[in-house]
Amino acid sequence: MEYQNVKGTHDVILKEANDYKYIVDLMSEVVSLFDYHLFHVPVIENANLFQRGVGASSDIVRKEMYTFLDKGERLISLRPEFTASIIRSFNNNKLYATMDLPIKAYYHGPVFRYERPQLGRYRQFDQFGIEILGTNSLYFDAEAIILGYTILKQFNLEDVTLKINSLGDETSRNNYRQALKDYFKDHIDNMCNDCKSRYELNPLRILDCKVKEDQEIIKNAPKIYDYLTEESKERFEHIKEILDENHIPYEVDDNLVRGLDYYSQIVFEFHYTSKKGFNYGAIGAGGHYSNLINELGGPKDMQGVGFSFGVERLYSILKDDDLLLDEQYLLDVYVASIDDNANLSAFNVSNLLRIHGLKVDSDYTFHKPGSAIKIAIRKKARYLIFIGLDEIENNVLTVKDLSNQEQIQIKYEDLINYFYDKLGFNHKHIEEEE
Ligand code: AMP
Repeated sequence: MEYQNVKGTHDVILKEANDYKYIVDLMSEVVSLFDYHLFHVPVIENANLFQRGVGASSDIVRKEMYTFLDKGERLISLRPEFTASIIRSFNNNKLYATMDLPIKAYYHGPVFRYERPQLGRYRQFDQFGIEILGTNSLYFDAEAIILGYTILKQFNLEDVTLKINSLGDETSRNNYRQALKDYFKDHIDNMCNDCKSRYELNPLRILDCKVKEDQEIIKNAPKIYDYLTEESKERFEHIKEILDENHIPYEVDDNLVRGLDYYSQIVFEFHYTSKKGFNYGAIGAGGHYSNLINELGGPKDMQGVGFSFGVERLYSILKDDDLLLDEQYLLDVYVASIDDNANLSAFNVSNLLRIHGLKVDSDYTFHKPGSAIKIAIRKKARYLIFIGLDEIENNVLTVKDLSNQEQIQIKYEDLINYFYDKLGFNHKHIEEEE
């Protein structure tokens, strides 16, 4: 019987796995430049963390969480996002008492949402993101946005669309919610069922509806900007000025409310349409949160901001637009035994080169020279070493440079220095032996 993977999951293997690693490594490098620190948090958490953290009116909590009772009858959820976990960790470890706030965290790993699988939408997918915890300074809102933008620039993505909006403070949102209720009152009976429950739970969420007929009604709904308090307006304007000064292009999108309940003040999303014309939805999104740290048991008045990128979506657009690394060489050396009695030597030479820092592959099995060359080329090796009986007898190795087909014999004892001269690899072990 053949087993199928669970619907909405996918294997990331071989070249694709290398590409994912490239994506996560590059993002990690960029966030390190901004002095962010890696947080590892559990994949499972108590379900109430997300019910409280992500919010009861969000689609994620209402419909998409993987929640189960464990053998100790605890209600556990697979994380549907990271922010609540990172804040739980910040609170549990009392990082709010750190001298130099904010704490700047980054994370990556799988998250789980029971969504309808489709293009760019999985049930298990990888997120990479940051949280800045313990500051209310609008400069950090601006830093988060600029960091997200900088990451996408590092991947050579041109024409990224940055959408921003402000949800204001609590007063702004309360006033706006009321205005939306008044407006939708006469329309809600004709709108989709989701909107009907959103109307009761959190009318802001209606603005997120993707149903075409509903969007017609949403178009004429009141705009949040008109309900922002003076203070919230000023904060929003100030962040826009910082973005302008740093030459970050953006669009204000009145309907951007985000799918998670905890946001206040600025929210943002990054969008991109690949050259093939695919738009996989937002590649990354985030915003400011005023009360979440406190709601999850941390001190009052401690705020934060964060964003998250979807690694699958980023991968898809980079692939479509040919922006993934296509390295000329994936191996430094392929070692080929060309005689049945040379397999052990092939093994030993491979091992010797690896412990001196070279990337080496071999199958330690005899091949004819012609097929050894084919294997080395398929594996994208820069050099090929042949070992046959002649080589063993004379204590030499035949080295073929696959970039120009030149072939030479070198003495066994010169092997490491030969490659050191050619590739400048880490020769720590040689120094140790001297
Ligand atoms: P969110 O946590 O909902 O703000 O999502 C952050 C990012 O995760 C989005 O911008 C997407 O890139 C990615 N994402 C969200 N849901 C999915 C999904 N079901 N499949 C793949 N990526 C997703």
